[in-house]
Amino acid sequence: MSDEHDHDEHDHAEHDHGENDHDRQAEAEQRARRQIALSQVRQYGDPVLRMRADEVTSFDEDLARLSERMIAVMHDADGVGLAATQVGILRRLFVFHDEDEDRVIVNPVLAAAGGAPETDEEGCLSLGPVRMPVERQLEVTVEGVDLQGAPLRLELEGMPARVVQHELDHLDGRLIIDRTDPESRREAMAQLRPRLVLTR
Ligand SMILES: [Zn+2]
Repeated sequence: MSDEHDHDEHDHAEHDHGENDHDRQAEAEQRARRQIALSQVRQYGDPVLRMRADEVTSFDEDLARLSERMIAVMHDADGVGLAATQVGILRRLFVFHDEDEDRVIVNPVLAAAGGAPETDEEGCLSLGPVRMPVERQLEVTVEGVDLQGAPLRLELEGMPARVVQHELDHLDGRLIIDRTDPESRREAMAQLRPRLVLTR
């Protein structure tokens, strides 16, 4: 899932010369890193995004390395969550950022969901800049295992609860365009189609 920042906003900010050259250089580097990270994220139209990921059965070095790579991509791309399917790996795990902590959950299942459903805008690292309203329940319990295969149970509220449901959907090949209202879906599709033409 993508973050809410508008990355072009600061392009219009006025800069003095001198110390702000550093800021400008840092921004340019950050933008370049983001582009590199996004180039590793499968984009809408890629069939892998529509496939169901398989249960993880071996908790080895490969799995640890995959999760490290996913965390790095998530951060560099300014995301708050990333599912393995988004980097082309059909295994059931995702990473997400919760209160300054990076979390990994393997073979996750939604054990409980409650609270009044709330609609809010969501973006996705696989859908470019397109955002759309999605209704979610914002009190959830997710169960799974950690990278060593030990049981893990997370009780989440608010934003992390939303992120986790978004990433769980990815593992079943479901995207936010399947969850939004018909009008928002039409608008999103109109934005996504021309991009597809340009990238082919
Ligand atoms: Zn997503």
